Amino acid sequence: AAGTARLYTEDDPLVLLGSGSLKRSVSSNSSSAWLVQFYSSWCGHCIQFSSTWKALAHDVQDWDTIIHIAVVDCAQDDNFDICKEYGVSFYPTFRYFGAHASPADLGKTYRGADRGVQTLRELMINFLQNHTRLGKPDHCPPLEPFNLGDLLPLLGQKSAHYTAIIIEHPTSYVGREVILDLSKYTGIVVRRALSTDTPLVDKLKITAFPSAYLLHPNGTHTHLHLYMQLRFFFTSFLRGLQGVQRRQTEDHSAPNHMGALSEHHSTDPWREFDSSKVYMADLESALHYLLRVELATHNTLGGEELKKFKSVVTVIAKLYPGRASVQKVMENLLDWLVRLPLESIPYQAILDLVDDKMRISSLSLGAEVRWVGCQGSRPGLRGYPCSLWTLFHMLTVQYDASPKLLASTALEGDPAAVLNAMRGYIGTFFGCEQCGRHFEEMAAQSLDQVKTTEDAVIWLWSKHNQVNSRLAGSLSDDPVFPKSPWPSPALCPACHQEKEGVHTWNEEQVLAFLRQHYGAGNLSPRYLP
Ligand code: FAD
Repeated sequence: AAGTARLYTEDDPLVLLGSGSLKRSVSSNSSSAWLVQFYSSWCGHCIQFSSTWKALAHDVQDWDTIIHIAVVDCAQDDNFDICKEYGVSFYPTFRYFGAHASPADLGKTYRGADRGVQTLRELMINFLQNHTRLGKPDHCPPLEPFNLGDLLPLLGQKSAHYTAIIIEHPTSYVGREVILDLSKYTGIVVRRALSTDTPLVDKLKITAFPSAYLLHPNGTHTHLHLYMQLRFFFTSFLRGLQGVQRRQTEDHSAPNHMGALSEHHSTDPWREFDSSKVYMADLESALHYLLRVELATHNTLGGEELKKFKSVVTVIAKLYPGRASVQKVMENLLDWLVRLPLESIPYQAILDLVDDKMRISSLSLGAEVRWVGCQGSRPGLRGYPCSLWTLFHMLTVQYDASPKLLASTALEGDPAAVLNAMRGYIGTFFGCEQCGRHFEEMAAQSLDQVKTTEDAVIWLWSKHNQVNSRLAGSLSDDPVFPKSPWPSPALCPACHQEKEGVHTWNEEQVLAFLRQHYGAGNLSPRYLP
């Protein structure tokens, strides 16, 4: 995309357009529709409005094969001509382009569109529903209501996919939002029906709206009783159904950096697991991989590197909540690092300790990877990076539960001790360089706002969700375990709420959930050797 639209960056889930790309994108037979905001980076109102536009882009991120959200900065010299050609003289100006628009099409102007996310989202749905036949995006699913005549032939029939029907009041947009939210998913078709359709409502015995009704592939059908009848709950439930998968996109802007890091033995049998548990096998595999594989690429450790390594060993040795034998190996390593204040140490010495070559304690770290909660559906997915996140979340929660555990270490009294250790490790040793750079950017931006151990737990949760959202649908996203806001409503219904039609988190509940999920009591020893 041309231009360096200053209110928006490449990290926002929207398209930055300019003189070189606007026409080529929106009006050269595009298969999707476009909603473009022409703005000026010096216009105060545009600056204020940018957070709403970004929130909208996040909210409808998964609709982008159907409708794209874009921006053009008319204050940029390069874009003067194109803004003039499109007749833009006030900022912000909103233009809608149907699919397959011609180069002569300057879009439809919409006034008063600079309101809240919900209003804008509904406006988008109205556009999608009211376009001419030609303007219809290629992949737009039917948004019109279903009736009894459409439903009857499906009832009791086996099918290759699920069919979900959202039954709602005629003024409600939830059904269409869920249809669009699932538009990139296979194994499911979503339809809507109206509360005023008495024959259908009576047939399904629905009395509250909105409601979701599900036809299973095996021919049975059920009324879904979710914790809250909100878009996010419907969407998340349907995406989580077995066999429902996100279609992989060829998104080269977010390549799979993780392939080599996700060691996986394809001959391993599949290990059934419960996603509400944390598995010691994943944590021990993380430590094995970290110490024996990742660190092995460094022949000697000295200076800053050594300092960072010491910090990460400190937080693991002191806070690791798993098997005592593993903690002891880490304690031995830490003692040795602290007792020998060398300028630099050879990697081999670390390895000897981890393998207990000196027979200090007759304890050594298991020397294999055995992924359980971090298993991927195929090699190259999940594995090590998944286990690293898990390890560090666990450590932030342990530290919050017992800050005294870091007493009389070099990290004593720092509420962000675990995060700083993680930052050091990820930036210096983590094999995925690009990941390290992204993580460093996030840390540089806001880590200094962490003032308590509680803040640290929430900070890591929130940044991890930011990464999930950036990677959803990319090549490193395992289609069987698609990235989505975590914890899902299935794991923690009370963590979710809606404000003015937009999903928000109940952070108090999230904190309580994280403390339970990553607490020592939720660690499972299953599958340990
Ligand atoms: P992961 O995202 O690895 O999550 C592991 C487990 O943690 C999940 O299964 C879930 O149980 C739990 N979880 C999920 N979200 C949260 C949350 N918000 N809070 C608490 N727990 C949660 N890959 C790239 O392609 N590009 C990158 O820039 C990139 N940056 C990374 C930065 C770091 C610091 C790390 C550790 C990894 C990074 N990765 C990156 C890898 C990527 O984030 C995933 O780890 C990898 O794709 C495997 O994903 P996964 O589905 O196993 O779940």
